[in-house]
Amino acid sequence: CIAIRHVHKVFPDSHAPGGQFYALCDILLDIEDGSLVALVGPSGSGKSTLLRCIAGLENPTSGRIFLHGRDTEEMSVQERRIGFVFQHYALWKHMTVWKNIAFGLEIRKTPRSEIERRVLELLKLMGLEGLGDRYPHQLSGGQRQRVALARALAPEPRVLLLDEPFGALDTRVRRSLRAWLRRLHDEVGTTTIFVTHDQQEALEIASSVVVMNKGQIEQVGTPLEIYEHPASPFVMSFMGDVS
Ligand code: ATP
Ligand code: MG
Repeated sequence: CIAIRHVHKVFPDSHAPGGQFYALCDILLDIEDGSLVALVGPSGSGKSTLLRCIAGLENPTSGRIFLHGRDTEEMSVQERRIGFVFQHYALWKHMTVWKNIAFGLEIRKTPRSEIERRVLELLKLMGLEGLGDRYPHQLSGGQRQRVALARALAPEPRVLLLDEPFGALDTRVRRSLRAWLRRLHDEVGTTTIFVTHDQQEALEIASSVVVMNKGQIEQVGTPLEIYEHPASPFVMSFMGDVS
């Protein structure tokens, strides 16, 4: 499980010289193994910052994050076995699609035949067959997004962090990737946290929903709990605002 204990993330306040701005304020959250968690909240509420702290791309200003009982600060990024797809985390431009996906396996010294099998499987899963030899600039935005997902999945991470993974995709692809995410959860049991701006998507596919506002957690619950028993007027209006 992931245990987040009193995590704060402070940045210098650009509006008040010398002041501080809390992007995350006292985050306390437990994420069970195998859960599919939707992280929702208005723009600027701290969703990406929280994922970046879990991934180890950023360190909390204070507080601790434990992964399977171990303090993440004492683990290397590789040891964490976390796959992620972030909003602006680009593919490697000078590598083909195939190489982008295979790279994480190569650095782990995976046997060649296993790499071939796995990359082919992922290309198929993502509907990217035949595109292995292309370079990122030769792909559409949605195709790039799917390569990024395949790359994150290749090393079979224990935890998958997805920051608006379906943002740039059309409705049909979005629907098939949602179904895929559910299947990954049901069959493989990968613990997954995904950010979405689509409240309906969160309520439909997640096993639990975390609602954030201004760097704090407003409510954590199953989709039904959030929908039927919003903990605050904020949650009620935010989750009701299905756009
Ligand atoms: P969005 O839905 O727009 O992606 P978010 O919930 O992911 O928003 P974050 O990116 O986590 O929001 O940002 C939370 C707050 O922290 C924002 O006010 C942002 O401006 C601020 N912030 C994030 N990164 C930095 C940084 N490196 N330096 C200063 N402020 C930052
Ligand atoms: Mg964000």
